[in-house]
Amino acid sequence: MADDFFTPVSGFDLPRFAGVPSFMRLPQLNMDHPRLGEVEIGLIGVPWDAGTTNRPGPRHGPRQIRDMSTMIRAQNDATGVRPFETANCADLGDVGPNPADLEDSLERITAFYEKIRSHEIKPLTAGGDHLCSLPILRGLAKFGPLGMIHFDSHTDLFHSYFGGRLYTHGTPFRRAVEEGLLDPTRVIQIGIRGTAYDNEDRDFADAVGIRVIPIREYFARGFADVMAEAREVVGPSPTYVSYDIDFVDPAFAPGTGTPEVGGPNSFEALEVVRAMQGLNIVGADLVEVSPPFDTSGGTAYLGASIMFELLCTMV
Ligand code: MN
Ligand code: MN
Repeated sequence: MADDFFTPVSGFDLPRFAGVPSFMRLPQLNMDHPRLGEVEIGLIGVPWDAGTTNRPGPRHGPRQIRDMSTMIRAQNDATGVRPFETANCADLGDVGPNPADLEDSLERITAFYEKIRSHEIKPLTAGGDHLCSLPILRGLAKFGPLGMIHFDSHTDLFHSYFGGRLYTHGTPFRRAVEEGLLDPTRVIQIGIRGTAYDNEDRDFADAVGIRVIPIREYFARGFADVMAEAREVVGPSPTYVSYDIDFVDPAFAPGTGTPEVGGPNSFEALEVVRAMQGLNIVGADLVEVSPPFDTSGGTAYLGASIMFELLCTMV
């Protein structure tokens, strides 16, 4: 049962278009707030896109997702879950990166998530580009490697870029496996598609035992069957969920840096999250929303809606 202090502002007390936006209109707490220890699920922004290799912009994601998330109401349409009554949820603000220094930013983000873990708060993060997930995992995976369900057009398993850059949004899960943050035999990547330079990432996945579901297999089997396999792959052990908005077809989510056509619609984008109910989810992120390419705000609204579904599976 959630404490009243952690109840979002109701649209009946203040219309949803009014007020200073926080994630889902939750109270905003900084990291030395006296009630921080009571938070069970913390919504966090990582406004950082130093890992982007093509079209930049996700550094602006958290602010636009906060704005669009004020449209979210308290009750889940599909499942009836009322997450804000079940768990103490709060907006814990943004992790400030160092815009001039990538490695220092990695350390700052890791330190923030170590603090989150030490308070036993489950983080639900809005990125940021996909490199954000690496320092988050470094902060969370202190007691052994995690499993992961990963929705994306891309595996993000490449070794490097331009002959040596080890940290980009194409490499986070390669590093995470190398560093022992993820158990590759408990990782499944869903929705993979698009033109490629080569098969380096897929060869790595095969070598370490990561299960990859390419988009043609996803559509041939249907999302329910694929998600049943995902549940088997991660099992009951601690699992992280990483959701790249480019998993969704760019007709529904055009506001992202590396779109790939031929993907799921926004209905399936929510259904795959609902199919994770009951898993041992220790944290989740929604990354790669890029407001400069999101002129209608529709991609950020979809991102906020996916975050609400993630929240409903985490409570
Ligand atoms: Mn990605
Ligand atoms: Mn991607």
